[in-house]
Amino acid sequence: MADEAKSQKPRVGVYICHCGTNIAGSMDIKELEEYSKEIPNVVLVDEYQYMCSTPGQKKIEEHIKEHNLTGIVVAACSPRLHEPTFRTASKEGGLNPFRFEMANIREQNSWVHMHDRQGATDKAKDALKMAVAKASLLEDLYPKSVPVEHAAMVVGAGVGGIQAALDLASSGIKTYLIEKSPTIGGRMSQLDKTFPTLDCSQCILTPKMVDIDRHPNIEMMTYTEVEKVEGYIGNFDVTLRKKARGVLTPAEAEARGIVGGGCNGCGDCEGVCPVIKPNPFEMGMAPRKAIYIYHAQVVPLIYTVDFDSCVKCNLCVDICGDKKAIDLEQEDEFVTVKVGTAVLAVGYELFPIEKKTEWGYKRYDNVINALEFERLICASGPTGGKVIRPSDGEVPKRVGFVLCAGSRDNTGIGKPYCSRFCCMYSLKHAHQIHEKIPGAQPYIFYMDIRSFGKMYEEFYYRIQDEGAKFIRGRVAKIEEDPITKNLRVITEDTLLGQPVDIELDMVVLASAVQPTAETTHVRNLFGISCSGDGWLLEGHPKLNPCGTTTAGVFLAGVCQGPKDIPDTVAQAEGAAAAASIPIHVGEVELEPYFAMCIDDKCAGCGMCIDQCPYSALALVEKDGREVMQVTEAKCKGCGTCGGFCPGGAIWMQHFTTPQIVAQIDAFLLGGEQ
Ligand SMILES: Cc1cc2nc3c(=O)[nH]c(=O)nc-3n(C[C@H](O)[C@H](O)[C@H](O)COP(=O)(O)OP(=O)(O)OC[C@H]3O[C@@H](n4cnc5c(N)ncnc54)[C@H](O)[C@@H]3O)c2cc1C
Ligand code: SF4
Ligand code: SF4
Repeated sequence: MADEAKSQKPRVGVYICHCGTNIAGSMDIKELEEYSKEIPNVVLVDEYQYMCSTPGQKKIEEHIKEHNLTGIVVAACSPRLHEPTFRTASKEGGLNPFRFEMANIREQNSWVHMHDRQGATDKAKDALKMAVAKASLLEDLYPKSVPVEHAAMVVGAGVGGIQAALDLASSGIKTYLIEKSPTIGGRMSQLDKTFPTLDCSQCILTPKMVDIDRHPNIEMMTYTEVEKVEGYIGNFDVTLRKKARGVLTPAEAEARGIVGGGCNGCGDCEGVCPVIKPNPFEMGMAPRKAIYIYHAQVVPLIYTVDFDSCVKCNLCVDICGDKKAIDLEQEDEFVTVKVGTAVLAVGYELFPIEKKTEWGYKRYDNVINALEFERLICASGPTGGKVIRPSDGEVPKRVGFVLCAGSRDNTGIGKPYCSRFCCMYSLKHAHQIHEKIPGAQPYIFYMDIRSFGKMYEEFYYRIQDEGAKFIRGRVAKIEEDPITKNLRVITEDTLLGQPVDIELDMVVLASAVQPTAETTHVRNLFGISCSGDGWLLEGHPKLNPCGTTTAGVFLAGVCQGPKDIPDTVAQAEGAAAAASIPIHVGEVELEPYFAMCIDDKCAGCGMCIDQCPYSALALVEKDGREVMQVTEAKCKGCGTCGGFCPGGAIWMQHFTTPQIVAQIDAFLLGGEQ
């Protein structure tokens, strides 16, 4: 059939899908059918309620044989959704699957022109005649199979990255876990207890951190960042920057011939270091030295020198002595590793809530954010778990929790989305206030309480029963008494319809969360998209929530959108499973959308070589002159070279110049070529 199809005059079958009323409700399917019959090269037109259903697909399969079709056009939804479905149907019917073309008359038409029936019908006619013009010129193409490297990478080692790495490694895959900080653990290691069960966060996280360190298939690389990513699914070459830590691990020391040396975490260096800086792990509420660990349970237990603040006094080097663990001249190192797939789990940061000036964060001592509260109430935190007011060290009795601080905010200053875990952690904080401060009164200022998870609503009832006062209304303003440093919270109780003006000792803002500052950089490295709010974009919101539009790259945790620990872990397990499939299968098929050089037209100028972002082009000698050659395994079919070539010598398979010109002609000239 394939060879026959190539030599024949085009015979295109057109199928128009109703998609229930999604399409048929907004355009005239009968009119489209009649119109399609007149398009040159069309030999068969059919319509169906749901073309993606089994009967719809069967029509295509049977008609290809019955009518000797050489091309198929389905006018339906987005190719992102059902192109694979109809390609498979074409293949089942005996046609090369790349002789199928889709006309999107749903997302790009009926859904946006819902109330303009004639306009939508006319636009669909254009889409149909353009698709037929292309289908008439489509050729047989064959996907390329490439072997998949038996290794994976996880970027970011919060609880999401940790879980993904453990799952990948436990399925037998060599896994690189890349973390930019000196320790793994992410935000979860900063938390005191976790809702709704109130387990100690460190107690449940630390065993997983230790498992990472011990796992024979995991190479944990902390204080390391991704520098460059080249390649494609199955064969990503990732260059990593191992930032100079100034301190050698025992293995690194041994490699330098220092027997029995390297950092053993004794902390002697920290004791003598004269430089004092705020510890970001403690939200700046406790000091650290220029040579430091963030906290007692760090993994790996290796000190790090902050070269921005180190004065190179050498006191640490002297006290470290024969261990010779400290190298103040160490420089960044670069290593490249090959992996088949990658999981991104780069987490989140807090929205800078000082931008909402009405609440006085950073202006009023006793207005703090929720992560600062976590550290204050944590036994291993800066106050040993004693909640005190920053202004005077007194124990606060009247504590306010302001929910949706910067979330669900359409003023242009905050974030329009719900940050999803702040209702629940604020309920947890109210409980902890009751537990730790006898006679204390928590006040919760809320818009709605979103307690949607398992046992969450019950937790909400529990906090109500414990006596927390709930005031429904967005806090308009907080004012500080300059003498007592007490806070006046001004709002309206929208349930009672009454103004509220209340004096409190301390206020905790449940700040919105946002993608980290480096998320854009990471997404550019891996060639993936983000949604309008900046979170990394999943392959499909319902059907592919762990994947991305870049084959071989998956997402886990809050970097894809706000979610609590159970949801982060669940997504990480999903991402790890999906990332392991190509590796276990051992090979993947690449879409054959490669660039191809028309040798006769190529002048051998070589100007396109530098344009290719994937280094897929090189000049080779052919018949006594130089012409361009494409390395198909490297080519991603982006089309940059094709658009650039001054001689028009590079075409993209499946998007060749004649095919594109035919589509434009069809639109402008009505299909006459
Ligand atoms: C105040 C507060 C209290 C909370 N309490 C609870 C609770 O009680 N229960 C609950 O279920 N949830 C709670 N949460 C939510 C919880 O913090 C998150 O669900 C969880 O931390 C998400 O984990 P993650 O791995 O996605 O992200 P993160 O914990 O942010 O981890 C991301 C990791 O990636 C690293 N990273 C970032 N960029 C890069 C890069 N470019 N290269 C390498 N590494 C990188 C980061 O350093 C970090 O280690 C709370 C959140 C807050 C703010
Ligand atoms: S050399 Fe740097 S890290 Fe070491 S003690 Fe002096 S200031 Fe601290
Ligand atoms: S989780 Fe609650 S506090 Fe947080 S943004 Fe959503 S509704 Fe507001």
